[in-house]
Amino acid sequence: MNSARDRLVVIGGDAAGLSAAAQARRLRDASDLEIVVLEQGPEASYSACGIPYWIGDVVADRDRLIARTPSTFAAQDIDLRTGTRADEIDLAAGTVTAAGERLGYDRLVVATGGRPLRPPIPGLDAAGVHGVHRLADGAEIRAAVAAGARRAVVLGGGYIGLEAAEALLERGLEVTVVLADPLPMAQLDTDMGERVCKGMGDMGIDVQTEQPVREIEVDADGVVKAVRTDAGSYPCDLVVLGLGMGPEVRLAADAGLRVGVTGALDVDRTQRSRSHPEVFAAGDCAQTFHRVTGDAVHIALGTHANKQGRVAGSVIGGRPARFAGVIGTAVTKVRDLEIGRTGLCTGQAREAGYDFRAETIEGTTKAGYYPGAEQIAIKVITERGSGLLLGAQIVGGPGSAKRIDVLATAIWAGMTAEELAGSDLSYAPPFSPTYDPVLVAARVVSRVERG
Ligand SMILES: Cc1cc2nc3c(=O)[nH]c(=O)nc-3n(C[C@H](O)[C@H](O)[C@H](O)COP(=O)(O)OP(=O)(O)OC[C@H]3O[C@@H](n4cnc5c(N)ncnc54)[C@H](O)[C@@H]3O)c2cc1C
Repeated sequence: MNSARDRLVVIGGDAAGLSAAAQARRLRDASDLEIVVLEQGPEASYSACGIPYWIGDVVADRDRLIARTPSTFAAQDIDLRTGTRADEIDLAAGTVTAAGERLGYDRLVVATGGRPLRPPIPGLDAAGVHGVHRLADGAEIRAAVAAGARRAVVLGGGYIGLEAAEALLERGLEVTVVLADPLPMAQLDTDMGERVCKGMGDMGIDVQTEQPVREIEVDADGVVKAVRTDAGSYPCDLVVLGLGMGPEVRLAADAGLRVGVTGALDVDRTQRSRSHPEVFAAGDCAQTFHRVTGDAVHIALGTHANKQGRVAGSVIGGRPARFAGVIGTAVTKVRDLEIGRTGLCTGQAREAGYDFRAETIEGTTKAGYYPGAEQIAIKVITERGSGLLLGAQIVGGPGSAKRIDVLATAIWAGMTAEELAGSDLSYAPPFSPTYDPVLVAARVVSRVERG
């Protein structure tokens, strides 16, 4: 090591870690900052978000999910070491031990990502039970389908479960989704979740709600054969886990880095650890804050991981930056059924102590007479009295989900429903009715407010 230059060590070579490394490199050249990225897996810079679409054959080539290869990073003087697990962090000494080597650091970025939740269900480790977290999981599920799997059970009704269900349906499997909650997409209100549940049923997905899994049943060879709940047993050749994601903090927490109330690493808005200022954390392993409630939250999404990594990289590179927080904006789809949400749902608004109104409208995604106009339902939640926008949810056909971004932007900007209702959104028949359904929803809820 050239002792004249600083060394940045990054643990985790995906969205957050590599965004941090790339941004730090943009701001400090190799003569000033050495950058070493440790990635335990065989690949770095891969899109976990794309795995369901690879399983579903929408994306046929696995390599398309890899954004940048180690040679791209080498060309930027970033020493990306795949297959290299960080085994220990010594915060007092400022070292990371990996592959038997003790690496000193001046700055450390912890970007160890998320850990799929695995409740203690008998049989969860059986052959035929798959996560959908890493590219290897996608390869295993594809292999099981190619080997003739016909029936799949997906555990969990969050967006990962729904996307996995869609993928397997596209591959011609019979799909059952088993969830403990009363409805899929627990981050939606009941009336909107019911639309999702019905839509999935209409597609031929068997949705079994309010059924915590008791056991994964296996055959004499230890291979999965059914999923058992209190209500029944669902035969299958394949089980896919979509039970949620927790932060992967074991390495950092064992070292003594402070963990926040959500169980994720406690950082300030510059992504700097609140206990060790020379250490940064970003992505699925890090805690953040909700802009509407001000509460600490852990929301594991790639969009946050990239931005937080960039913030950490900027600060390490000497350019001030702050992560602006989150409002829980997310989109997904099951076949032609699109789902979007942002801000607070009614349960969250109640929990946060808001006196609120909620109105749902139905409309179409294009002018009613225009071919391909699809149904769309939009629910808007506002603070009673002020009319301040607190949250919104969308369920509808193609062209629906991304409309959530307009509502997210309005919430982000602190707008009222009345202000949004009067705002200048575009119109032409192939894109929306004269009044976009977003404007209609905002107008309806503000009219109720005015009385
Ligand atoms: C199926 C699926 C679909 C998704 N779809 C979306 C979507 O549509 N939109 C969205 O915004 N988000 C989506 N996400 C979430 C998104 O993929 C994650 O939020 C994002 O990948 C987080 O990035 P990260 O860098 O924090 O963590 P990760 O991507 O988990 O990367 C962390 C890396 O750290 C490595 N690592 C961990 N511990 C060590 C160690 N001790 N030593 C060395 N390396 C280590 C891991 O191997 C891993 O490669 C999806 C996730 C999944 C699983």
